[in-house]
Amino acid sequence: MAKAESSGKVELCMVSSGETEVPYDWHCGPYWSRFFRGLRDERKIYATKCPSCGRVYIPPREVCGPCFAKMEEWVEVGPEGIIEMFTVVRHAYTNPSTGRPVRTPRTDVYVKLDGADTTLMHRLNETDESKISVGMRVRAIFREKRTGTIHDIEHFQLVKSG
Ligand SMILES: [Zn+2]
Repeated sequence: MAKAESSGKVELCMVSSGETEVPYDWHCGPYWSRFFRGLRDERKIYATKCPSCGRVYIPPREVCGPCFAKMEEWVEVGPEGIIEMFTVVRHAYTNPSTGRPVRTPRTDVYVKLDGADTTLMHRLNETDESKISVGMRVRAIFREKRTGTIHDIEHFQLVKSG
């Protein structure tokens, strides 16, 4: 008789049988759907505008945070804007949404699009931080083949001045 069994304890074993891939879809609701259709079908970026305070939200929201007013007016913003903040990521990591490694270096950027009061997080196609600063103008670059996701904007690029 094994020692563990004589003491009343039973060893529990773990068997690893590999990885499981679980594809799934999710419904993004009427507001995000309107936003994504604008990107896919018109190459335009639509935001919602509060009827009470006039704030313009991108990504679009249904209800204004400070006013609690329902927003039903859609306005076009961008495609240019200014960098509100950015970070150049050099440390390798795994995308939690895909489980795949993220190619680095990459620059994540928050853009305040022309006509908007909030920022949109996306990617900038410049990774040399000596060439990037807050307040610089950037432009959304759309993919040729668009599917109705945030990735229909391939990235933002710096707008050359002059
Ligand atoms: Zn408001």
